[in-house]
Amino acid sequence: MITGKNYIGNQLSAIGAKTYKTFNSQLNIENEHVFTEATANEINIAASLAASAFKTYSKKSGKDKAVFLRAIADEIEALGEALITTYTSESGLPAGRAMGERGRTIGQLGAFASHIENGSWVEARIDTAQPDRQPLPKVDLRKMNVALGPVVVFGASNFPLAFSTAGGDTAAALAAGCPVIVKSHPMHAGTGEMVASAIIKAAEKTGMPNGVFSNLNSSGIEVGQTLVQHPAVKAVGFTGSIRGGRALFDFAAKRPEPIPVFAEMGSINPVVLLPEALNTKAVHWAKTYAGSITLGAGQFCTNPGLLIGIKGEGLANFASTLAEEIVKIEPSCMLHPAIIGAYDSGKARALEQTELNVLADYGLEARSNYAKQAVSMVSGKTFLENPVLHNEVFGPFSLIVECENELQLEEVIHKLEGQLTGTIIAEETELTHSSNIVSALQNRVGRIIFNGVPTGVEVCPSMQHGGPYPASTDSRFTAVGVDAIKRWVRPFSFQAWPNELLPDELKNENPLGISRLVDGTHTDQGI
Ligand code: NAP
Repeated sequence: MITGKNYIGNQLSAIGAKTYKTFNSQLNIENEHVFTEATANEINIAASLAASAFKTYSKKSGKDKAVFLRAIADEIEALGEALITTYTSESGLPAGRAMGERGRTIGQLGAFASHIENGSWVEARIDTAQPDRQPLPKVDLRKMNVALGPVVVFGASNFPLAFSTAGGDTAAALAAGCPVIVKSHPMHAGTGEMVASAIIKAAEKTGMPNGVFSNLNSSGIEVGQTLVQHPAVKAVGFTGSIRGGRALFDFAAKRPEPIPVFAEMGSINPVVLLPEALNTKAVHWAKTYAGSITLGAGQFCTNPGLLIGIKGEGLANFASTLAEEIVKIEPSCMLHPAIIGAYDSGKARALEQTELNVLADYGLEARSNYAKQAVSMVSGKTFLENPVLHNEVFGPFSLIVECENELQLEEVIHKLEGQLTGTIIAEETELTHSSNIVSALQNRVGRIIFNGVPTGVEVCPSMQHGGPYPASTDSRFTAVGVDAIKRWVRPFSFQAWPNELLPDELKNENPLGISRLVDGTHTDQGI
C-alpha cells in the first residue's frame, strides 16, 4: 500500500505541508497518490537515527548483513504485481522492462550478499612484528577496509528499481556496513515507497537497528541539499544530470567536513567506426545502432550519442542506412514530461547548429511524451569548433562526425570530455594498426568495447561503470558490480593491537578463513 509518507527509520511520517503527485507518462495524467515532502526536522531525525544505527550496523558480520540483503530481495519479490503496476504507471516504461529491472535489483542484492559473506572483500593486510629488526624494530600492523558512515543515495530517474531505493548504490552501501538515507526520486515516489517498505520489513525481520534505512520524499532540490550538508552524512551516491551531480559535489566540498560524492552523470559514449569494418558491414552496424540509439527511448547512461568515422563510401553507407532504419522504429514513451521537454529542447538546439546535416528526424505524429528519434551529421572540423555539439542530448538522438582522416579522428577523441564508454567498430587487423586511436579513446573512457554496442551493462565483478569527469566525479570507482562497495569504505590500520580485540578479519587464527596478504604472501591460513 502506498501512503505517500516518508520512512524516518522504521516509522512512517508526514508532518510537512509540501505535497506532490507522480505522473503517468503513458496516459498523460497525474497519478492519484499524494506524497509529502520531508521537512528539515524529519531529515534531522533520519540522519541522527542513521548515525546511531552506524554504531551497531557497521559491526555486523558479513553473514548477518548478507541475511539482511537477501531478506530485502525476498521482500521486493513479495511485492509482486503491484510493484510492476506502480513502476509502469510512474515511468512510462513497459512491464517487461519493469520485470527485467526487478530481476536485476534482486540479483544485485544477492551478488553483494555473496561478496560480503566471505570477508575477503575487506582486503586484509597483515605485517607481523619483527622486534629484532635492525636498526629499528618493526611493529605489528594490520589493515582492512571499514565502513565510512551514513550514506545518502539519490534515486535515478531512468532506473526506478536498479539505481534507486534498493538499487546498486544502496545495496553496495548496506553491504559495506553503512546505513542509507534515500532521497527518493520525485518521478517514481510510489515505487520508491513500496521498495522502502520492503527494506524496512527486512530490517525488522533480521534484527537490524532502527535507522539503518530511511526514505525521504522530495519534489525539489532542498531536501537533497540539506541531506548532503548534514554533519552525520559521510558520503553521497548520485545518478543523473551533470548539473545536479556537480551542484551536490560542490555542496559536499564546501562543508566544514568535506565528504565524497560519487556521481555518475552524463555521457555521450563515442563510437569509432573504422573504414574496413564499414566497407564490409556498414548495413549490419547501421541496423544494430538504430536499435541501440532508440533502446528504452534513449534513456540509458550508455546511449551512443556520438558516432565518429572517416569520410568515404563505408561511412556514407552507414549514415544513409542508419537514417532509413531509425525512422522505421516506433517512438517510445519517455519517463516524464520534464524529460521529454529536456529532450525536445536539447535536440532542437543540436539540430539548429550551423553546418549540420539532419539525416533523420522522425516526422510522423507521435503520442504525448513519446520521443521522436533523430540522427544528424557534421564534419570533424565543425565538431571540433562547436562545443554545443559535444553536449549530451538525453534520449534517442545521435550525431555522426565525419572526419577527413585518422589524424582528425584522433583529434576529435582528444577533444571529448570524460565518458562512461567508448566503442570501436573495426576489423581485428585494423584495430592493431590503430593503436593511437585506441590509446586516445582509452584515456577518455571507463570501458572500451570492440564490435558491439555500449547499451547493456552487465552486473559482474569485472564491469567498470564510471569514467573520467564528467562521466563520474571519481573515475577510480565503479557504480556497477561488486567493486562498487569500495566507494563506501576507508582503509584502517591497527598498530600493535591485542589479537583478541582485533576484528575477526585480522586475528592471527583467521577464524573466517578469508584470503589475506600476510607478510607479502596471499594466504587463507592463520599465522
Ligand atoms: P537530475 O535533474 O540530475 O536530478 C536527479 C536528482 O538530483 C533529483 O532527485 C533531483 O532532485 C536532484 N538534484 C538535481 N539538481 C540538484 C541540485 N542542484 N541540488 C540538489 N539536488 C539536485 O536528473 P533527472 O531528474 O534524473 O533527469 C534530468 C536529466 O538528467 C535528464 O534529462 C538527463 O539529461 C539527465 N540524466 C542522465 C542520466 C545518465 O545516466 N547520464 C540519468 C538520468 C538523468 P529533485 O528532482 O527533487 O529536484
